[in-house]
Amino acid sequence: MLNPSWRRVVLKVGSALIAPENDGCSEKYLRPIAEFIRQCRMQGLEVILVSSGSVAAGRHHFNFSHQRVPIALKRAMAAVGQNEMMNFWSRCFEFPCAQVLLTHGDLSDRVRHVNARNTFQRLLDHGVLPIVNENDTIATEELKVGDNDNLAAMVATVTSADALIICSDVQGLYTADPNKDPKATLIPEVRQIDQRIYQLAGGASSSVGTGGMRTKIEAAEKAAAQGIDTLICDGHQAVTFQCLLAGTNPGTIFYGQAKPLSAKKHWVRHTLRAKGEIWVDDGCIDALCRNGASLLSSGIVQVKGEFESGDAVIIRCKAGKRSIAKGGSRFSANELFSIKGQQSRDFSHCLGYCPTGSDAVIHRSEMMLLEKL
Ligand code: GLU
Repeated sequence: MLNPSWRRVVLKVGSALIAPENDGCSEKYLRPIAEFIRQCRMQGLEVILVSSGSVAAGRHHFNFSHQRVPIALKRAMAAVGQNEMMNFWSRCFEFPCAQVLLTHGDLSDRVRHVNARNTFQRLLDHGVLPIVNENDTIATEELKVGDNDNLAAMVATVTSADALIICSDVQGLYTADPNKDPKATLIPEVRQIDQRIYQLAGGASSSVGTGGMRTKIEAAEKAAAQGIDTLICDGHQAVTFQCLLAGTNPGTIFYGQAKPLSAKKHWVRHTLRAKGEIWVDDGCIDALCRNGASLLSSGIVQVKGEFESGDAVIIRCKAGKRSIAKGGSRFSANELFSIKGQQSRDFSHCLGYCPTGSDAVIHRSEMMLLEKL
């Protein structure tokens, strides 16, 4: 295998490989991928498959020819296509497969997150291949991850995988768009994901799936923060899988960070969605960024959005322009309206009751800096 220290990998297969013609599942690319999964398992590697394509696979059952499909119809297509796709994968293997359907809401809820983690572990312990997709039939826009690249990165972090392999219809990340620039070359390794890397990604490109190179970089960034390597490779080419098994790199590898974030900070930074904003003064920004302080109410100048205690919020500078940090607020937006700018000794006077717990609005252990001063 490309890296012999990998023990558990998440393999993401895009819609363009599952149903390349938008006309049901096709064996063309799936057979070599299934063979690769079998080989990995024979080498002692645990594999979790994230399979896109329920909408693309189900589409041919509906008499609808427009490119843009209304959401209710998409949900129905996903329901049929998911079943076809699972049947297809199950027929490829002699070992059992399990269907795991998730939404962003499942992964950002602490209890469901732990349940998912435990279920994956049990499935792998018993030699079952977990096959994951977003629960497209019921997911609402707010509760969706939206693309399976990011979903696969979340699955990789939930399952503490060593690597995320994204099988796409491109070979990897190029120095420029290879369709437009003949001088574009493949970048084999990325050690740091920064704005320059995002600029190389451009916009979405595939006409079948949801993601493009950008969502793949986002996924690699999420995975890297947890110390997980991400490989982007071309799933159309059988040679890709031969390379991987022979230990050579067929695409672009993004290395996981040597010092991963704690699981809690990773969850706050990459899984929780912010429900509101807290704007703070300059002294407060200094305390957060330079002194490693917790957020106290005295530095708060403005509160935006409706959130409850425990929800994630973004801390911004007082003009609202820069995002400084993200974290879980111990107070609701309503409570913060009353105590903003106040000292903690005045809380009971402002609120009419005495809040329990510490004085911090966001404790340092539940805060991630987004910007360094
Ligand atoms: N979950 C979607 C599906 O199965 C795919 C999302 C994506 O293409 O990333 O159709």
